[in-house]
Amino acid sequence: MEFRCKSPFDCILFDLDDTLYSSKTGLAQVCKRNIEDFLVEKCGFPVEKASDLRIELFRTYGSTLAGLRALGYDIDADDYHSFVHGTMPYERIKPDVKLRSIIQSIMQRKIIFTNSDRIHARRALQRLGLEDCFDDIICFETLNPNLFQSNRPDEFPVLLKPSMDAMKIALDVAGSDPTRTLFLDDNDRNISAGKALGLRTALVGKSVKTMEADYLVESISNLDKVIPEIWGYEEEGFIARARSEMESMLEATPVGA
Ligand SMILES: [Mg+2]
Repeated sequence: MEFRCKSPFDCILFDLDDTLYSSKTGLAQVCKRNIEDFLVEKCGFPVEKASDLRIELFRTYGSTLAGLRALGYDIDADDYHSFVHGTMPYERIKPDVKLRSIIQSIMQRKIIFTNSDRIHARRALQRLGLEDCFDDIICFETLNPNLFQSNRPDEFPVLLKPSMDAMKIALDVAGSDPTRTLFLDDNDRNISAGKALGLRTALVGKSVKTMEADYLVESISNLDKVIPEIWGYEEEGFIARARSEMESMLEATPVGA
């Protein structure tokens, strides 16, 4: 007899970097170093200022590329991405058979939602062995379609997570009710933006849950243990959970209230 109830989710949005593979690969550090090299070699900033500038542009504009273009530097997005990702040690990303079987067993719409460019996203997914596991990839090019036709660097601001406009584009592509869409990301600012739009949120790869995260998934390979609801509730577990939630509500209610 089947005791499963319907899943509360119609669509799952997965961030890619540091979410589907661990930050321990160190790829983010290499990427940061490459960005600093770009600032020195392509934009002419002094070596000793590169690190502070990268951090400042990220804080103010959401990314180095966004900041440089907003400041009037005519940086071609494809050139930038091939410079900062071109020499990354992709071999550090290993095929993840367990994650593949978890993701393949999810029947809902599954979408990659990353700020990275399409070439990087495909390479990372290929390394993980997940290139055929998703219905769609929302990436830099999806979020910034006008950038590639623009003649003026400041004509279209670069759109990236966690901006609300970027989040809305993702929801549009997902085509699902935000309250029935689960968004997984390792970045707490992205999680906050998702929550502000009414998404269900899971902070990944961290050990402490933030307020805006509905779930904490310390390791993506435990996704099935931490959020079994994705696959639908098991009737017995569902009832037990509902009962324990009701009990804790009752405990929190002062006597005579
Ligand atoms: Mg990430």
